[in-house]
Amino acid sequence: MPELEIWTASWVWLDGAVRADAGLVTDGRRVLATGRLDELRERFPAAPTRVKGRYLGPPLANAHTHLDLGLGPTFTGPFPDFVRYVIGRAERRGREAAARAAAQAPQRLVGDIAAREEVVDWWLAEAPAAGVVYWEVLGLVPPEREAEILRATRERLERWKRRERPGGPRVGLSPHAPYSLTPGLMRGVVALAREFEVPLQIHAAESPGERDYFLRREGDLAAFFRAQGWPLDLHPTGLSPIAYLAELGVLEARPTLVHGVQVDEADVRLLAESGAVVVSCPRSNLGLEAGLPPFDLYLQHGVPLALGTDSRASAPSLDVRDEVALLERRGQPPERTLAWAAAGGRAALGLAPAVLQPGMELEQVEFW
Ligand SMILES: [Zn+2]
Repeated sequence: MPELEIWTASWVWLDGAVRADAGLVTDGRRVLATGRLDELRERFPAAPTRVKGRYLGPPLANAHTHLDLGLGPTFTGPFPDFVRYVIGRAERRGREAAARAAAQAPQRLVGDIAAREEVVDWWLAEAPAAGVVYWEVLGLVPPEREAEILRATRERLERWKRRERPGGPRVGLSPHAPYSLTPGLMRGVVALAREFEVPLQIHAAESPGERDYFLRREGDLAAFFRAQGWPLDLHPTGLSPIAYLAELGVLEARPTLVHGVQVDEADVRLLAESGAVVVSCPRSNLGLEAGLPPFDLYLQHGVPLALGTDSRASAPSLDVRDEVALLERRGQPPERTLAWAAAGGRAALGLAPAVLQPGMELEQVEFW
């Protein structure tokens, strides 16, 4: 019989939550038992205790990034200037930039939004991580162009769905944000996601300007629309971005919503009713002057949360543990945020629930 060890860490996954004073027993190959540390020591008195670091549990997920934006430099400043910055980097996006970024992304469970076809092809061929690669769609275009974009999106989905392999990455769709698609295009993309049964990820309620744009056509995003010469009458007014998505029927498709910073309690209720997972990217939000989401309000209403880094264009690393550290400095206990990154991340990506239980291979357990 191989020698047994008790493994523990500052924070350990146990029965669906992250807590202190817990651990697992292993023979070096498998997990034989999990439980509270004092109980494990009583049951296995000869087993030495090994402290494996800060965290021991199911792998964390980075539920939102854009690998094809490469490795920066990282922009900080107001949101419309960030949009200009990203538009200015369009030429450099692609498979090579994505591969360079993936090499520096420690989590192997990822939700990645791809703006180039070659990036989706690369995900399906080389599976740089498990999770979902979402094809990004956007456009403030006339109806005939909407139909064209939807036709092309359908063809791509048909092609990519055939290339999915069991256990490999899945293809999803990302209609970029409420303000960057016409209502018709947004509805069409969501209908395609439902028809093909692919996961959806949407940026929403990120900057104060996005909310001001939807409510009153005011603020810096409305000014940006004017400066670009984009029409200001494409979307309804008087609704928050979340209420707009609800009215359009988008929330019924249970998308993963990225950011969810600028929301009020009515928005949070809509999200709770829809069953959507909210992916928070706190370092990106602070860098782009959006603020932080009302985490307590989300928890109060039972909205599941996940964490993402967003791209290196707005975050200094692709390591979701750095989001946990930032939130700890802002008063969010790590047992809470680590659970978001482990369980919430898997829910956001449509994967089976996170577990740490007897019988599992030790390889499936993460520690650091
Ligand atoms: Zn993003």
